[in-house]
Amino acid sequence: MSLKGKTAVITGSNSGIGLGVAREIARAGAHVVLNSFTNRDEDHALAETIAKDFGVEARYIQADMSDGEQCRALIEQAGSCDVLVNNAGIQHVEPIESFPVEKWNAIIAINMNSAFHTTAAALPKMRAAGWGRVINIASAHGLTASPYKSAYVAAKHGVVGMTKAVALETAEEPITCNAVCPGYVLTPLVEAQIPDTMEKYNMGREEVIKKVMLERQPSREFATVEQLGGTVAFLASDAAAQITGTTISVDGGWTAL
Ligand code: NAD
Repeated sequence: MSLKGKTAVITGSNSGIGLGVAREIARAGAHVVLNSFTNRDEDHALAETIAKDFGVEARYIQADMSDGEQCRALIEQAGSCDVLVNNAGIQHVEPIESFPVEKWNAIIAINMNSAFHTTAAALPKMRAAGWGRVINIASAHGLTASPYKSAYVAAKHGVVGMTKAVALETAEEPITCNAVCPGYVLTPLVEAQIPDTMEKYNMGREEVIKKVMLERQPSREFATVEQLGGTVAFLASDAAAQITGTTISVDGGWTAL
């Protein structure tokens, strides 16, 4: 699964799944561009560590994925973009009647619209290079739903739909577009949901993990960021050249239920 000589841009990759994806893609030999909206020494240090660990070029570029122009500027600044991983995402849990409009708009912008902007900016580069991969990190919530996550569910279903449309637009070219749908992965995004859930159900942390979160995931285990990264590296590889317009679930059986 060598990606030697390719350059991958991974949005929202200073933590969690995005960072795991960047590391696995670098392990396969690709140069990587990390991103988030912050511009801290520790963000740039993540790129330096990847460069050292895997002997590839690695850079961190600050860009806010809630802003369409910054999404497009990220792809321009990256130079080459052979593999685009649309991973940036946020979550908010609240009944739809009281769901704050600004939270709804931010979730749709970061989780869905950013993939529109980056993909539109990256496809001409992939066409010029004669090879490309667009890999969207959707969710089990792109295929199923949960109450109180309406914006997230809407955005992730949108990403799955956009994935299929882009796959058809590029079907006759050496470019593929797929979505990866994780179930629960214990990242900062999921950690942030634990305190409220503990309060809501009057449960301890371990009980919330076991009885609320992993209850939904038949394997009863979290997927790891390395497993997500490995799946993305596979979709980026030549072995996956005929896989396009589909979703790969990494959810311990969630969507089989
Ligand atoms: P995370 O919070 O660790 O990562 C989210 C990343 O997005 C971070 O790097 C963050 O800095 C970045 N980000 C947030 N707002 C941004 C903005 N405005 N501009 C640029 N970057 C921004 O959470 P994660 O779980 O690793 O999430 C990564 C992706 O995986 C998300 O799209 C999420 O919806 C999806 N996902 C996660 C799970 C899970 O269980 N963790 C399940 C299904 C899908």
